[in-house]
Amino acid sequence: MKSHAEVVVIGGGVVGCSVLFHLARHGWTDVVLLERDELTSGSTWHAAGGMHTINGDPNVAKLQKYTISLYKEIEELSGQATGVHLTGGVLLAATEARLDWLRGMVSKGRYLGIDLEVISAKEAAELMPLIDPSQFVGAVRNKEDGHLDPSGVTHAYAKAARKLGAEVERFTKVEDIVRRPDGLWRVITNKGDIIAEHVVNAGGLWAREVGRMVGLELPVLAMEHMYLITEDMPEVADWNKKTGTEIIHAVDFDGELYLRQERGGMLMGTYEKANKVWSEFSTPWNFGHELLEPDIDRIAPSLEVGFRHFPAFQKTGIKQIINGPFTFAPDGNPLVGPVRGLPGFWVACGVMAGFSQGGGVGLALSNWMIEGDPGADIWAMDVARYGDWATMAYTNAKVRENYSRRFSIRFPNEELPAGRQLKTTPVYDTLAAKGAQWGVSYGLEVPLWYAPDGVKDEFSWRRSSDFDHVGKEVATVRNGVGLSEISNFAKYKVTGEGAAAWLDRMLACKLPKRGRMTLTPMLKDDGKLIGDFTLANIDDNEWFIAGSGIAEQYHMRWFEAHLPKDGSVHIEALGQKLTGLAIAGPKAREVLAKVSRTDVSNTAFPFMAVARMDIGMAPCLLGRVSYTGDLGYEIWVAPEYQRAAYQALIAAGEEFGIGLFGSRALNALRLEKNYGSWAREYRPIYGPLEAGLDRFVAYGKEADFIGKQAALAERREGGRLRLRSFIVDATDADVIGDEAIWHDGVVRGWVTSGGYAHNSKKSVALGYVPKEIADRPDGFEIEILGKRHAARVQAAPLFDANLERMRA
Ligand SMILES: Cc1cc2nc3c(=O)[nH]c(=O)nc-3n(C[C@H](O)[C@H](O)[C@H](O)COP(=O)(O)OP(=O)(O)OC[C@H]3O[C@@H](n4cnc5c(N)ncnc54)[C@H](O)[C@@H]3O)c2cc1C
Repeated sequence: MKSHAEVVVIGGGVVGCSVLFHLARHGWTDVVLLERDELTSGSTWHAAGGMHTINGDPNVAKLQKYTISLYKEIEELSGQATGVHLTGGVLLAATEARLDWLRGMVSKGRYLGIDLEVISAKEAAELMPLIDPSQFVGAVRNKEDGHLDPSGVTHAYAKAARKLGAEVERFTKVEDIVRRPDGLWRVITNKGDIIAEHVVNAGGLWAREVGRMVGLELPVLAMEHMYLITEDMPEVADWNKKTGTEIIHAVDFDGELYLRQERGGMLMGTYEKANKVWSEFSTPWNFGHELLEPDIDRIAPSLEVGFRHFPAFQKTGIKQIINGPFTFAPDGNPLVGPVRGLPGFWVACGVMAGFSQGGGVGLALSNWMIEGDPGADIWAMDVARYGDWATMAYTNAKVRENYSRRFSIRFPNEELPAGRQLKTTPVYDTLAAKGAQWGVSYGLEVPLWYAPDGVKDEFSWRRSSDFDHVGKEVATVRNGVGLSEISNFAKYKVTGEGAAAWLDRMLACKLPKRGRMTLTPMLKDDGKLIGDFTLANIDDNEWFIAGSGIAEQYHMRWFEAHLPKDGSVHIEALGQKLTGLAIAGPKAREVLAKVSRTDVSNTAFPFMAVARMDIGMAPCLLGRVSYTGDLGYEIWVAPEYQRAAYQALIAAGEEFGIGLFGSRALNALRLEKNYGSWAREYRPIYGPLEAGLDRFVAYGKEADFIGKQAALAERREGGRLRLRSFIVDATDADVIGDEAIWHDGVVRGWVTSGGYAHNSKKSVALGYVPKEIADRPDGFEIEILGKRHAARVQAAPLFDANLERMRA
């Protein structure tokens, strides 16, 4: 075994082998994979081998499509059969709501290049003969479903990697990992040490143990999972004989089942409601090629549905039940990427669909390691979407919930109950008493809207029970003054002598003067966005940044990786050490003037001013800016003062009819201003010009900010896409995000977010289209729930286009 390597990959499951292959294919051959046993000795060997392209997140779906397209290449390169059967499949809907959900999938598939088609239940039964069509209302056909041989695929990755120069060491257990003073990693194994620049944790079932070696508690947990294999079935033999083809895959969402042919019989798996965690706290090292005891009672309710939906199963015997463990992150998506605070330590774990996602994970990780960027938008899989708040108990609650809901519909207005009330702010109980309906963001409870007694969200794809109430909250803001809680923003404090120079390099904006704020994009080396923030200059050596709450860890990883080594700059993520309130609307200043002794007139405290001032007795930091696009103020306050500030504002606002508004009203307000937001409109695949943020980029500033040259090139060449706001002729359902945008009968773009702008009484969608068509006056249509609705570009904001209200 070698003593030094550029990269050590820990784990010879499908994911580790894919990472190794992708590193080698990308030209890094001084790479070695360490496997404590034989390859596939974790969850890989007993997988059912199913693969599919669809995923709730379109960017993950793209990577799944890539994974499936890869199998031919690794088979040819390695000479190892992968056993791929591209049978195609049907996704079945037993309810209208499910069919709506599937229609959304089809719409996404159009711009992702995934060939999906809505068909009737009868047509589904013609394709998949075991279906009882009377049990279903419709289906979607997916030509890219199939299955493979899990062991064959894993060995094909490994052999192909070896051919390219990578090494694989089996029966080599990593026992510890130590960071050396020179920054390299000492990987201690039962066969000696390897010194490596990079270490990848692809430990699968043992990812937690490998993480703990470097002091990391990863939010992953293994669940038991069962599938059964039937005796040979005459229906299968007949079909094979009649058509010369295998029976295609089926996913029965409402039965929570997946099915495929296995030799002369069928394989049926289920994500049962009464699920079971495996090895809650740590995974035994002596677990190897073993199966768990099947428990048919646990899956009996699902099987009952299966026997009804697929009647041929009633007449056949069960040959074998496989029960094996595999790991999940709290939201069911992988955990991939570099780990904040551990340079050179990478994770590729929590991969619950290794045969659909393993290739994409390997590609992204190898790009990231070698090029410094994953080369794709992998936010949904980024390990940085979790912070320290994702504790073991939180993970346990969410993973169990996610497993039991694997095939359940999640409506756009549906908030899930597990892992809740973990982070709350001091005004939580006060807002709850006012009827706050809560959502969750980065573990924090966030008010979505305020419901009168007895009213709550009715889950739906369409406008729902909150519609009129959110409309009233919007009117409160636009006609008077509203108050909302904004503690869910990420807040950063940057201090030190080098702070200004550092920010000038990190951020693309012109730095604001003392007492002023600005909006600013942050770019990567390739000139694409990696953040968008409000930057406030408090005192030249002290700066305040507000940004997307869900990206706190993501941005801290980036900030810290770029800090100067001389200690001249210090950055702190304030989390809930700083809470927030906002007031907005034409009466906002009058409310503020009543509770502050500072002059808040437009002359003394104009738009984009920032200052410390007391609200009542509470010391606060105030910025005159509002995401509502109205006259408004963001108020940052230490948690111990938040209630006092809240009460002072509510009392002062009473004479102006102050009312509470939640994030749904805020969405309706920002839509009529064409304001985008991080992780929706602004993502690391768009340039500032494409995203309409170029007006905040100081292209001519002296500082050589990160991404400057690429941003200049984008400006010169025009980029490829444009973010546009559309008014949609929608009637009872608005866009959610990820719908297809058609132009002249062809799909040309995708929706990033939208909803109903109550004040303007318009259904609004934001989305990207090619720049060539971005300013066409007509010809656009946006697909909602399978129907195309005419849409028009709305260039000027619907509300306050001349900024009179905001700057008044
Ligand atoms: C019953 C069942 C059915 C499934 N069906 C499907 C399916 O149809 N389709 C699909 O896509 N997925 C399926 N899966 C999930 C799939 O198995 C996983 O997504 C996949 O195996 C994850 O691979 P991995 O490489 O991340 O982890 P693992 O397979 O667990 O591999 C991790 C490897 O790391 C090694 N390792 C760990 N720690 C160390 C150490 N310290 N030193 C050296 N080596 C170490 C282990 O020995 C192991 O070989 C199924 C899972 C189960 C249980």
